[in-house]
Amino acid sequence: MGRWVENDAAWYEQRMLHCQCCGRMIAKHIYREEVGGAERTFCGEECAQLYRDYVLPERGENYRPPADVMDLYDRLMVK
Ligand SMILES: [Zn+2]
Repeated sequence: MGRWVENDAAWYEQRMLHCQCCGRMIAKHIYREEVGGAERTFCGEECAQLYRDYVLPERGENYRPPADVMDLYDRLMVK
């Protein structure tokens, strides 16, 4: 079970936090949950669940899409 925490950065600080699932920038309300043995940062409970159930088991820890992912997408999409 995760918990909500506040980003305690002062207004003049640039402390950027990003959701580990969808990459969205998180300004104030951070959802923290331990997934796969590490405490992780998410934008909400839905992203924590998606990360736990799909991203981590299917894609792994530090997955990044391949550089040519848009070429692959263009080839596979129905015109
Ligand atoms: Zn997210």
